[in-house]
Amino acid sequence: MATPSDRAPLAEQVEQLLATEGPLAIVAAGEPVLRRPTERFDGQLDPALLARFVEALRITMHAAPGVGLAAPQVGVPLRIAVIEDPAPVPEEVRLARGRVPQPFRVLVNPSYEPVGSARAAFFEGCLSVPGYQAVVARPAEVRLTCEDEQGHAVDEVVTGWPARIVQHETDHLDGMLYLDRAELRSLSSNQAVAEYWAQPAPGEAAKALGFRLPG
Ligand code: ZN
Repeated sequence: MATPSDRAPLAEQVEQLLATEGPLAIVAAGEPVLRRPTERFDGQLDPALLARFVEALRITMHAAPGVGLAAPQVGVPLRIAVIEDPAPVPEEVRLARGRVPQPFRVLVNPSYEPVGSARAAFFEGCLSVPGYQAVVARPAEVRLTCEDEQGHAVDEVVTGWPARIVQHETDHLDGMLYLDRAELRSLSSNQAVAEYWAQPAPGEAAKALGFRLPG
């Protein structure tokens, strides 16, 4: 529960962040804010400030570019993230990874739970761990519960690449990074991924680098 006395600092921090135009600075692994749990959003920002903050997250995600951004990645310990993926990928990648376009949306106080036992393992990366990617096996389908930016309740099943994005961003809000769940032997520079591991699925990478895939 937020009280007037602890509302002010967060709102003030966000106001200060928004005082500068353009994309916000993204903090990198090692910043404590990425490892702490976040505060549930409970009106700490008034509707106008929330709308400005969400817009700044959107601009920052586009500029990076990325397909998701969580508030702690700009130093704000609030349970809010944005996602959007135009999914400009070849057909074979779309089919293998379920990477379908995900329109822009705001996740307020999200949480997820697996639906079924199927897992999907693919390379993923993080704007707070620049330069690298690693294979993460995640539930292929999750039930997402959250609110949207207007406070309307959301309860839906998400599959494919959007399910991966939802899990990655929600994990940020629990102080987790994708590396906590990754096959560390798969860790590859962006250059190595582009050069060797651009296949739709990471089977060849698993053999060559020596890590296990689920199933
Ligand atoms: Zn991330």
